[in-house]
Amino acid sequence: MSAAAAFDVQPGLPEGDIHQRDVSGIYPYENTLRAVRISGQQLREYLEHSARYFRTYEPGQPIINDSVAGYNYDVISGVVYNVDLSRPAGQRIRGLAYEGRIVQPTDSFTMALNSYRQAGGGGYSMLANARVVYDKGEDIRELLVDEIRRVRTIQATAYLRPSWAIIPDPARAAARAAFAPAPAAVSTRDSTVLRVLTTSDLHGQLESRVWDWSQGRPVGGVAALKPWLDSLARVCGCTSVRLDAGDEMQGTLLSNTTFGRGTIDAMNALGIDAAAIGNHEFDWSVDTLRVRMSDAKYPFLSANITNAAGTARPDWATPWKLVTKNGVKIAVIGLTTTETPTSTAARNIQGLAFGDGAQAIKRYLPEARAGAGADFVIVVAHVGAACDSSTGGGNTAACHGEILDVARQLDSGSVDLIVAGHTHLRVNTVVHGIPIVEAQSSGRSIGVVDFVRTGGRRDVRVQLVTPYADQVKPDVALTEALGRQQQAVRNISERVVARLKVPLKREGDEYALGRLIADAQRAAGRADVAIMNNGGIRADLPEGTVTWGQAYQVQPFQNRLLRLTVKGSVLQDALEQCVAGSQDHLPDCHVAGAEVWYDPRKEVRKRISRVHLGGKDLDKDRTYTLVVSDFMATGGSGFGMLVGSPKEDLDVVDVDALTRYLGVLRAPVEAPADVRFHRTDH
Ligand SMILES: [Zn+2]
Repeated sequence: MSAAAAFDVQPGLPEGDIHQRDVSGIYPYENTLRAVRISGQQLREYLEHSARYFRTYEPGQPIINDSVAGYNYDVISGVVYNVDLSRPAGQRIRGLAYEGRIVQPTDSFTMALNSYRQAGGGGYSMLANARVVYDKGEDIRELLVDEIRRVRTIQATAYLRPSWAIIPDPARAAARAAFAPAPAAVSTRDSTVLRVLTTSDLHGQLESRVWDWSQGRPVGGVAALKPWLDSLARVCGCTSVRLDAGDEMQGTLLSNTTFGRGTIDAMNALGIDAAAIGNHEFDWSVDTLRVRMSDAKYPFLSANITNAAGTARPDWATPWKLVTKNGVKIAVIGLTTTETPTSTAARNIQGLAFGDGAQAIKRYLPEARAGAGADFVIVVAHVGAACDSSTGGGNTAACHGEILDVARQLDSGSVDLIVAGHTHLRVNTVVHGIPIVEAQSSGRSIGVVDFVRTGGRRDVRVQLVTPYADQVKPDVALTEALGRQQQAVRNISERVVARLKVPLKREGDEYALGRLIADAQRAAGRADVAIMNNGGIRADLPEGTVTWGQAYQVQPFQNRLLRLTVKGSVLQDALEQCVAGSQDHLPDCHVAGAEVWYDPRKEVRKRISRVHLGGKDLDKDRTYTLVVSDFMATGGSGFGMLVGSPKEDLDVVDVDALTRYLGVLRAPVEAPADVRFHRTDH
């Protein structure tokens, strides 16, 4: 047998061609197919639990129980049964029979269901001990598509095998009436008051992209996101608002070459109504951010950014804004992660502080809620969470993270929704009655949050949908704009910067490409030594011509180079950090200007026996000049010993230092072959 719910009674398959979006309409969740072995007793409990969707029939009273969501009303095919609404919940299933025989408690069946339900979603706790006998991870929507393709022409009658009925007749009539199209003024159906569409952490992903989980299908890209957002807004037939949780611009060559300008143009076209200020928004300086804010047709919000003393906020940091849509007033309060000081270069956030999120929200809540007369207060936070499990669309998973700490300090009901970001994960949870939704990153997900009036109460329904690009017709204007940017980038990225004699690969832990980068950085600063962390080397280079775009793939982070003046003892500590990791992955850096002998069997921080530089052994009392990225200089990758050293900004980004260095070497370039970290244990 098979259990399923009608998630929404509104959408259906239209006459004529069926599109992917129609299938998504009737099956909006990303559940997979499973099967369990259950007893007759469990089957009966299952149906009784499902039947709680109805109230016990009383003439003139509503028949639907508003406290059970429609998507938790399962029907089962393969058996026949009646739902007797003259009886109280728990005693309603009558005449349950399988192949003409009444089901006995000790009978055993195999039942197909979705992953959400199998995991107990919707309170179906009787499944907790039911053995899973089938789980191949098949996406149910894909199975639906396969079935539609297989039959080519669908006849509804071929699928209509009535297996259950509501009894007695007056109860059945009341249930039918509850779903009949009602006159507009006295609708008894659920009505969506507001739909919030959320995105986060686009990170300059303007083009659609195939992911390892997307089965070869392109996902996202702004030209697809626009029709997706437009359609999600349109099908609701309700008031909707589009909110983004920040980190829009940093991350792709396409976006970074215009320092985010192209991304803001796209966000404008996507109709974003407000966005949080993300930590990476600072990557190109506050001045650049302010220009981008002026390019945007929507406000950038953050309530917790102040001056270093915490006494005043910079005038560009707007804490909240009232967005009015069709007369619905939505107060949007912004937040920025308190991790910002450690996740962007220190120079970008000089003089700024990122204060406690909950306190900041509470500071502005009175004026946002009562002062502005807002119908909804929504926090859009570049602050995130991680959940132990993200299966099924349920919100039972255990979540943790900065945004949960914020929500726990808020009064229940003080905020209607938190749109989170920053961790790039799927989050759909509730804390203190406040729903929290996070829609991953790079255009992989859209959060759809519906505030629904159902009966006399308000309900919140959350889905995360995957915007497959092949399901929509791409937006023409955005496609053209993207094409222009791609051409401009090609002019830069296809410029040849070097010719290599052999390919340079990240093979082993010390390799020629790493030595070449370290040499380039040392040369850029005319320094005694340079250290490059391996984590910052992100791609290989091919033999033959190397383009700027390929070099950019190797060093995509746009780190600036700094020349530090350090004591010999600090330099020694920094080199110890390079060999402090697990024995199988050493060293974890590349060095230029020095040679190091170390024994990985020895205690961490005491592994180096000798450092040779400038023709002599390292002198712990002398000072040396050292080039590192601003990331390392501010303590990244465990280089805390470098923080506080006198430093000069070399005014060059790492990838530019590399391409300039390649430009002065004689072609074809042969990368340095001299090993610089020597193990003394073999
Ligand atoms: Zn972030």
